[in-house]
Amino acid sequence: MKFELACNWDVNLLKGLEKFPDVELFGGIPGSLIAGGRASFVAPEITESDAGKYIESARKAGYSFNFLLNASCLDNREYRKDEFAKIIQHIGWVESTGADWVTVTIPYLLEIIRRHFPELKIAVSSWARVESVRKAQYWESIGADAIVLSEEINRDFKTLEAIRKAVKCKLILIANPGCLYGCPRSFYHANVMTHGSQGGHSSEGFLVDHCYFSCTSEKVRHPEELIKIRWIRPEDVEDYEMAGIDCLKIIDRYKTTETLLSYLKAYSERRYDGNLVELLNLPRKKAFLPANVKYLLRDEYINTAKLMEFADITDYPVTEGLVLDNSRIPSNFLSFFKTKDCATSDCRECGYCGLIARKALKVDEGMVGVAAGKYEALLESLVSGDIYREDSTGSADEWDADAGKAHKKLLDFVPAVFRQAAEKKIASEVRASNGGKVGVDDICAAWLRATPAPFRKLIEEKIMEMRS
Ligand SMILES: [Zn+2]
Repeated sequence: MKFELACNWDVNLLKGLEKFPDVELFGGIPGSLIAGGRASFVAPEITESDAGKYIESARKAGYSFNFLLNASCLDNREYRKDEFAKIIQHIGWVESTGADWVTVTIPYLLEIIRRHFPELKIAVSSWARVESVRKAQYWESIGADAIVLSEEINRDFKTLEAIRKAVKCKLILIANPGCLYGCPRSFYHANVMTHGSQGGHSSEGFLVDHCYFSCTSEKVRHPEELIKIRWIRPEDVEDYEMAGIDCLKIIDRYKTTETLLSYLKAYSERRYDGNLVELLNLPRKKAFLPANVKYLLRDEYINTAKLMEFADITDYPVTEGLVLDNSRIPSNFLSFFKTKDCATSDCRECGYCGLIARKALKVDEGMVGVAAGKYEALLESLVSGDIYREDSTGSADEWDADAGKAHKKLLDFVPAVFRQAAEKKIASEVRASNGGKVGVDDICAAWLRATPAPFRKLIEEKIMEMRS
């Protein structure tokens, strides 16, 4: 079995790969013309020139590089003469970096690449949702060299084997998908992520990832969903080899090097001792690269002060409250799926995943409850529209001079990117306690009430310093 690993553009990742000579890398650039799977606020940023150098080093070290062009939508700009020329130019640049593979979702894009860049090998993205013999044959007939099959069929061996028999091209499965099984948001989420990473799109990288929080909320409220997700256990790699799968694709590009290498090690050794949920994309401390919040703090699109109330939502260590002990999952876990057809079954009548959950999943109700509350509050604010509404704020004339000074001083401790949101939030929070002018006490109280949890300790210290 071969492995493809997500590239986070960290040079240490290349160093860490020395123990895994046979691995292939895949990566993309957010904010570029044909972007793809991860929006700019989560994907690690890199310039074309630095990406080019990175790919060159990877290729020199002997690693194949698959450049992601897997946008699910190009705004119909692909049908304009100016944009068509830019697309050709961009793919020309990709080829010039030495990348030997590209991944696409749009059939027209595959045809363009096949015609104009015959040397590039082309993989079909999982977003093309190839889950039948017919679709696989079609993509192969227009020139696909590999297909990343939809993760929906990761445990559907009848279909995997039928596709294997029907096509010659390389077949790839995502090893550690985090999406809900049968996710109703999958097409929409692909488009949201695409436009969120597409250079020149009118949203300019701004989005609130409603899909991610809806799905995470679902997993947290109904933890047996975690078993239904179509992840592949490192111990079960051989079953996929037997089914004729050539390669497993290990995601996610926005994770740290240490995390990515630990995944690769587990799949290479076909053994994982620990919490299987940590292989997925649920919030976990130190597993993710920091988000690019500059894309999110856009006052013209949203009430950033209200958005900031949810600043710690992805930092809350959900995986610590959901422990799926791999050693407690029966070794023949996968056998069940070889005889059962999930697509035509009702989970409530089947109950297999629920059974596994009761055996192997330990839920810390307290921790999980806190997380569920956070997701629900954000989702409610998005649906009610509250997060878009501006608060009425009092006038600064009602503040005494010292209050204004204290406020300015505290603002200086707020990272520049958050400052505007903080200023607005405090102005809407502050109340005069004695019916007269707003004083220093009132300002400090407002700061303590309104500062999001990750920054509260710092502000507490600064207030103590200021008042001592
Ligand atoms: Zn679109």
